[in-house]
Amino acid sequence: MFYKSTRNSALAVDSATAISQGISADGGLFVPSEIPSITMDEIRQLSTMRYADRAAYIFAKYLTDFTEAEIHHCTDSAYNTKAFETDAIAEISHLFDGTYMLELWHGPTCAFKDMALQVLPYFLTTAVKKKALNKKIVILVATSGDTGKAALDGFKDVPGTEILVFYPEEGVSPMQKRQMRTQEGGNVGVCAIKGNFDDCQNGVKAIFTDPQVKQQLDQAGLMFSSANSINWGRLLPQIVYYISAYATLAADGEINFGDPINVVVPTGNFGNILAAYYAKKMGLPIKKLICASNINKVLTDFINTGVYNRNREFFATCSPSMDILISSNLERLLYLLAGEDDTQIREWFGALAKEGTYTVTDAVKQALQADFCAGFCDDADTKKTIHEIYEKYSYTCDTHTAVAVKVYKEYKEKTGDTTKTLIASTASPYKFSASVLEALEGAPSTLDEYAMIDTLAERSKLEIPAALAQLKNKSERFTDSIARTDMKDYVLRQLGL
Ligand SMILES: *Cc1c(COP(=O)(O)O)cnc(C)c1O
Repeated sequence: MFYKSTRNSALAVDSATAISQGISADGGLFVPSEIPSITMDEIRQLSTMRYADRAAYIFAKYLTDFTEAEIHHCTDSAYNTKAFETDAIAEISHLFDGTYMLELWHGPTCAFKDMALQVLPYFLTTAVKKKALNKKIVILVATSGDTGKAALDGFKDVPGTEILVFYPEEGVSPMQKRQMRTQEGGNVGVCAIKGNFDDCQNGVKAIFTDPQVKQQLDQAGLMFSSANSINWGRLLPQIVYYISAYATLAADGEINFGDPINVVVPTGNFGNILAAYYAKKMGLPIKKLICASNINKVLTDFINTGVYNRNREFFATCSPSMDILISSNLERLLYLLAGEDDTQIREWFGALAKEGTYTVTDAVKQALQADFCAGFCDDADTKKTIHEIYEKYSYTCDTHTAVAVKVYKEYKEKTGDTTKTLIASTASPYKFSASVLEALEGAPSTLDEYAMIDTLAERSKLEIPAALAQLKNKSERFTDSIARTDMKDYVLRQLGL
């Protein structure tokens, strides 16, 4: 197995190179040369393993240049109860008949990003060692709130690495901001950008692919890598939990081995749902992938019409981790759907960069609609949904997950499809206490952030995650805020170049 670039099908690198580089030099994303398969017998075998071993089994299909010992070093270091609050690593809750919440937020930063970012540092340091690169890795991160904290936690004090995180100053929740500003560790940095997430992401991408910056880094014995979902090492761990959840549901008798399920994912950068798509292509019996957006519904429109158009108003919502108009990982999907035609991808993504829009062919649109359905949900409906499912099922969910629940409800009403369904629950409700509490009480709370957490605990009966409770007593280390045009200078300065 090797990896090619979505913008250069002739490229062939091993997984250690793809993971350590993060993004291809041509600006494309690394994709595996073929999608390995998994049989129902293998899934049955996985159902008796613990999570770390399920992950190792699936990783081995993709990381063919890693030894078994290297893979187990990665999975055993990442998926244990020191980092995760539960033995199962990911939990499954029953919401209502035939609908299951895949709770991916029992990790150290309370969002699903931990599922990948706890293991990525081990992938990266192993890859760098294998390639004998003898370089210090500099991780640059653009975050809409959750990736930043999860990456900081994963990389803090990892030898041979340094990490710098950029977040949109007005685009993250107070709790997310506090989590990042109080980050501990000797190799970490955090900076606010006066702009939105797309500005952060574009800035980071531009620095990554700037030949002059690359040369300066080379000379200093440094190299960039990415902890965003453009890095294959971020995406791969996300394939695991869909297969793992299916194995658990079947072993528990909720479904039979071989039964189809639907998967609903609250979506922003298209990483999480793309991982589910890969799981489907491997052989997991997923019927429909349901892509749920908030009011920044560029993906809903795209899936329904075949026209991607980012030229539209940007809204800050109560599900900030989905406030995205340029969904990077769509490039990987379109590469696959367009028959790995790199010329076509360069054309579409060139048009996106220049004109902010592109239109896919009818054939690609049909292929897209065969696997995906899409819908969106605004803030008012998000809060209404949180309230409703709390009243009906005594279940408290966060704002992002509520978007998925609402879009799924509409899908079910419209199609009458009663296939059992897994909803990706992407964050702890505590991470968005203000919005969740407002949804439960019907009016904005006047309490401070920590009193809100206590009130939410009384209502939800969910244990307060220790990492969030401790924030109260931590001091803020990082308060820099810069213009989006100053990102390159800032990075060079921070690295002492
Ligand atoms: C990142 C994030 C999302 C969006 O996931 P993508 O992989 O970017 O589509 C949804 N919900 C939460 C809570 C997140 O942190």
